[in-house]
Amino acid sequence: MSTYHTPLYRDTPLILSVSGVTKAFDGFKAIDDLNFYLEEGELRTIIGPNGAGKSTFMDIITGRTRPDVGSVTMHEKDGRDYNLAKLREFEINRRGIGRKFQTPSIYKSHTVYDNLILSLNKKRGVFATLFYRESREDRERIMEVLKTVRLDTRANDLAGMLSHGQKQWLEIGMLLAQDPRLLLIDEPAAGMSDEETERTGELLMSLENKHSLIVIEHDMEFIRQIARKVTVLHQGHVLKEGSFESVKADPEVIQVYLGRQGKRAENN
Ligand code: ADP
Ligand code: MG
Repeated sequence: MSTYHTPLYRDTPLILSVSGVTKAFDGFKAIDDLNFYLEEGELRTIIGPNGAGKSTFMDIITGRTRPDVGSVTMHEKDGRDYNLAKLREFEINRRGIGRKFQTPSIYKSHTVYDNLILSLNKKRGVFATLFYRESREDRERIMEVLKTVRLDTRANDLAGMLSHGQKQWLEIGMLLAQDPRLLLIDEPAAGMSDEETERTGELLMSLENKHSLIVIEHDMEFIRQIARKVTVLHQGHVLKEGSFESVKADPEVIQVYLGRQGKRAENN
């Protein structure tokens, strides 16, 4: 397991600012005055008990759900800001935010390679796809992605033949083919073997600094492996933020979350 850790507070420009966001469903605040700031190139993990608002938080960033109040701002490298709360889902995706859901949505009867080509073209739109001819740049890009997600020897196999873990990696590869600035990844290690989990951790760490990443996860061993700065969500609000060790030792965090989960991780 890697012991390499970058400093927690790096003083680089922000890519995402979420401030004062509240979202209620039938009067119940799933997100409650949430403040969250992500630096360019950062790998952030989010933990929190079931119902803490983690997936809703991702829904708000990707435009799937609109906040009732508060702002969600994406900062461009050229200094411009975009209010994501005013953009539609596909527009936010085009601004460079990609999301991976828990269940992989790959095309099982297509090859691994073709899945990546399809994903590359998704960004270009229907018209471009209709007249698509594979360029050398595209091929090189796909080969690079295949290496990154360690599927370069599986390029010509049908995606349906991959193991569960490899399917998850392919889907991460499909996001990477679109070269997103920010990747949102919801519970990538769910259902994976220990070895696949560790490889997934290595993969995510290799993306740090090239992309910004927000990773939601329950598996504490996995969080320990990849954690830089950890955000603990509880009742739609940030309960605590800091290193894995500081968060793990925090009495409030232990009470709401790690008391249960921490025990389970130690027993495993
Ligand atoms: P987590 O991902 O941390 O487990 P969620 O974001 O899925 O939590 O859910 C947070 C809370 O908001 C839960 O109590 C859930 O029932 C509620 N919630 C989420 N989405 C909706 C929705 N579309 N309608 C009603 N309630 C919702
Ligand atoms: Mg969830």
